[in-house]
Amino acid sequence: MTLVIDGHPFAYEMENLCRLFFPHGGIRTVREESGDGDQIYTGAERRADGILLSVRARLGASERGRKKLLPAGTEDRELERCMAVELWGMLADLSGVRPAWGVVTGVRPLKLFGRIARKRGEAGAAAYFREKLLVSPEKAELARMTWRNQRSLLAQARPDGFSLYVSIPFCPTRCAYCSFVSSSVEKAARLIPGYVELLCREIRRTGEITGGLGLKLQSVYFGGGTPSQLGARRLLRLLAAIAGHGGLLPEAEITVEANPTSVEADLLEALRAGGFNRLSLGLQSLRDELLTVLTRTHTAAEALAAFGLARAAGFDNISVDLMFNLPRQRFTDWCDDLQRIIQLGPEHVSLYELSVEAGTPLAADVAAGRLLLPDEEVDAAMYEAARELLPAAGWEHYEISNFARPGRSSAHNAVYWRNEEYRGYGPGAASYVGRRRWTNEPRAELWRQAVTAGGAAVSEEETRSEDEERRETMYLGLRQLTGVDVAAYTARHGGPPEAWFGTELARLVEVGWLERTPRAWRLTADGLLWSNRVFMEFL
Ligand code: SF4
Repeated sequence: MTLVIDGHPFAYEMENLCRLFFPHGGIRTVREESGDGDQIYTGAERRADGILLSVRARLGASERGRKKLLPAGTEDRELERCMAVELWGMLADLSGVRPAWGVVTGVRPLKLFGRIARKRGEAGAAAYFREKLLVSPEKAELARMTWRNQRSLLAQARPDGFSLYVSIPFCPTRCAYCSFVSSSVEKAARLIPGYVELLCREIRRTGEITGGLGLKLQSVYFGGGTPSQLGARRLLRLLAAIAGHGGLLPEAEITVEANPTSVEADLLEALRAGGFNRLSLGLQSLRDELLTVLTRTHTAAEALAAFGLARAAGFDNISVDLMFNLPRQRFTDWCDDLQRIIQLGPEHVSLYELSVEAGTPLAADVAAGRLLLPDEEVDAAMYEAARELLPAAGWEHYEISNFARPGRSSAHNAVYWRNEEYRGYGPGAASYVGRRRWTNEPRAELWRQAVTAGGAAVSEEETRSEDEERRETMYLGLRQLTGVDVAAYTARHGGPPEAWFGTELARLVEVGWLERTPRAWRLTADGLLWSNRVFMEFL
């Protein structure tokens, strides 16, 4: 069989495509058509009205042909795709064969999927595979799932990687239960422009250092406060400063926290288009009366609407925060919330058990008896209900308080749980580099003054001993349901956990809170309920 290549440079790709349909016959590539024998023609003719693609086949007694006119300025990559699609369609008609990977040949599907996903998002890449590259729905889904898992692993296991947290300490109002030092946006309006400028300066300065070390940025997390309150332009400016590091990995997880009160379609679309690929939405509850108790400024309907806007904006990786053990929250309310979340279908769910923080308005109400917390049994039952309902619906329980769809666990938080290095910017942000840990001044105005004066605005700092490091790796790692990997622990600390904590481990095994699997030390189901007591053993 001869393959005619006329007026285009895609001989290799067209030949590969023909081999999908005719794997056993020889294919000879030529530049001109001839009058006899089996022949496939592919041509591109540049004309005044555009580029005319033509494909024709003469196979035995059968003949087929197709034409398509493309705009004059069509780029080569798109030209190649269109020609491949026409050729594939014609040969599929002729042969009755429909290769499952469509026109994807000569390139690893995952590599291609990743390239497209970085521009269009994961769902967009899957759609592109199906609609533009004629990949079967099953193979497109396979590519999507494999890429997701690979991406998650890559992001979580990079030895030369580091993670970055950006603190945005401004909130629409102060929630009654919150002890975080944030400023209300109204009060802090004058701080915000200068704040972004100072953060950019700090990010650039550190970027020069990490860039010089060749470190790769595997995750970025904009937390708060309420980052969405800053608006898209400022958030994207900060992200651009971070990308200017040069070390931002293409597959990096880039999360922004948002409050349903402060999200609109424009904001979400701009953030998604600008590179944020994960949204953490603070729903907290889907009951208005409980949101009122918490003094949240949104209703349940607004929270659900915000989720819908995020989906419409292209966020295909959304985490939602849900709170339990709230005053006036009944067990049935909580189960109802969980069921509604399951129907909503976020990729990730983070649970927060309310703890009453001294000095908050909520603490005063509880102390005065105006608000009553659920009793301990109900609190425990709520947690157990989440542990039953979410996994049964397809969310993996992977950390004490976190559940994720396969491949959607938080890469950023995993850095904390594995006791790896991270860098924080802004008021109250924590950093961990080498054995040094430090926390920035939490009050925005004091932080601003210190940074403006050229200082580091550090309020607390310490250098951990090797013993402290070993302990931290234990109790942070035990938060993950996979536990503390013994081989990784040994590689890092020079010996397995048994070498340092034999007595503690034996005691915890005896009470049934800890177990040793072939690979790891991990909490048992009972241990999950008593995790704080377990962690105390390593403090
Ligand atoms: S939005 Fe979050 S950080 Fe801000 S006051 Fe409420 S709980 Fe605190």
